[in-house]
Amino acid sequence: MTRLRGNFIAGEWTWPGSGQSFDRTNPANPDEVVSTAPLSSALEVEEAVGYVAEHHHEWAAKAPEARADVLVAAAEILADQAEELAVELVREEGKTLAEARVETTRTPQNLRFYAGEALRMTGETYPTGDGSLVFTKRGPVGVVAAITPWNFPLNIPSRKLGPALAAGNGVVFKPSEVTPLMGQRLVEALVTAGVPAGALALVHGKAEVGQALVAHDQVRAITFTGSTHVGTMIHAAAAPDVRVQLEMGGKNALVVLEDSDLDKATAIIAKGAFGLSGQACTGTSRVVVHRSVAAELQRRVAEVARAARVGNGLEEGVTFGPLANDVQMEKFCQYVEGATSQGARLVAPEDVVDDPPGGGYFVRPTIFDQVSPESALAQEEVFAPVLAFMEFDAYDEAIEIVNGTPFGLSAGLVTQDIGKAIRFADDVSTGLVKVNQATNGMAMNAPFGGMKMSSTQTFKEQAGASMMAFYTNDKTVYFTP
Ligand code: NAD
Repeated sequence: MTRLRGNFIAGEWTWPGSGQSFDRTNPANPDEVVSTAPLSSALEVEEAVGYVAEHHHEWAAKAPEARADVLVAAAEILADQAEELAVELVREEGKTLAEARVETTRTPQNLRFYAGEALRMTGETYPTGDGSLVFTKRGPVGVVAAITPWNFPLNIPSRKLGPALAAGNGVVFKPSEVTPLMGQRLVEALVTAGVPAGALALVHGKAEVGQALVAHDQVRAITFTGSTHVGTMIHAAAAPDVRVQLEMGGKNALVVLEDSDLDKATAIIAKGAFGLSGQACTGTSRVVVHRSVAAELQRRVAEVARAARVGNGLEEGVTFGPLANDVQMEKFCQYVEGATSQGARLVAPEDVVDDPPGGGYFVRPTIFDQVSPESALAQEEVFAPVLAFMEFDAYDEAIEIVNGTPFGLSAGLVTQDIGKAIRFADDVSTGLVKVNQATNGMAMNAPFGGMKMSSTQTFKEQAGASMMAFYTNDKTVYFTP
């Protein structure tokens, strides 16, 4: 068991005066406590925001090269620890080791990428007729609240803290209560590398901490990744003068046209639907397939689903780790039971819940067909490996199904028809469009964000310019020498 060092506030690792804490257990073995973290309240948020609001200017005043150097140094620390972190990540969150290694590789890469952004905070000049100079000048927004989910507990915070710090902001970071250890590891690396106490605070806890951050009048920007339910509450609670960026849930569909290579389509679906045990925001939860190839495609995907090696992600040969916690498990069971009562047919597997000795939130990749596009399984985010097959006869019907949910995160198409592929990008109302690729998986330097209820659609993450626009204020200066 690891007792965490506590919150990081005003340069000290501290525990709340209340002494309250919560345990995080290993999802592959819920008897094993992985970490004990402080259960903080609005009091700790007040201390953290107050200190950062007062002191972050010192970080902003540093040369951009100096801020960049610190982020690169943090990246080196995390790269050196990558293997150790991957093992801890599996124990805390429940991925397979291979999936965790992708994340522990990507996280330092993110910090290196954002380090460069410190040097690219450029402005523009505008022509005038009177000899004066008109130009824009970028500066940090001030205190940024970063609230993050558990499914990428290093990667997602690194792509928020990295650019926010590169721009010279102070950040108060609230990691998910499901993965507090990963939150600590990221902050330890940044602090060891030289991020000063006035520029970074970490407050562990649950919804109460997030709510206090969102309501705090010294927070100037909120960056959130998580569920649409929580994101919508944050949007409603944030003051009108606070900048908000929300990346939220998805109900991502993959369309398979009749001309598709079914082997390729099967591999694309398996990666999208079953990677990270179905717990990726951009994962595939709906397959919309042309009726003429539906039965054969379904047979092949079911075969892959049945072949999954479910188990503890640290065990050799395991390809499919547990769900993250009991909440995820209950949600999975609820949707699986509800699907059959709404007329869907269970295709695979025979037993959806895997029950190995020692417990653990193990389920199997699960497939339904005859799913009605209006049913809960087709409309709501399950965030678990439950795949809904729906059939169509004409391309326009497929588009109607893809766009027929409140979400707009990612959509994919498998086809050899270039014309349809180009048209698809225009026809779908999603922020990510994939052609002959899984709905999940992203380039770290390309814009990322959803549409509709998947995002505030305000500022894209990841890409240099739009992301730095979120973390900076732009002043227009009129200057007569
Ligand atoms: P969640 O919304 O339950 O929690 C996210 C964070 O918000 C946590 O830190 C949580 O403690 C905090 N929180 C909870 N209630 C709050 C409140 N009232 N006010 C402020 N903060 C509050 O999400 P989760 O279960 O951690 O993550 C899964 C969800 O995240 C899925 O819906 C998934 O699609 C989404 N997600 C989206 C993206 C994306 O980029 N679009 C990426 C990863 C995950």
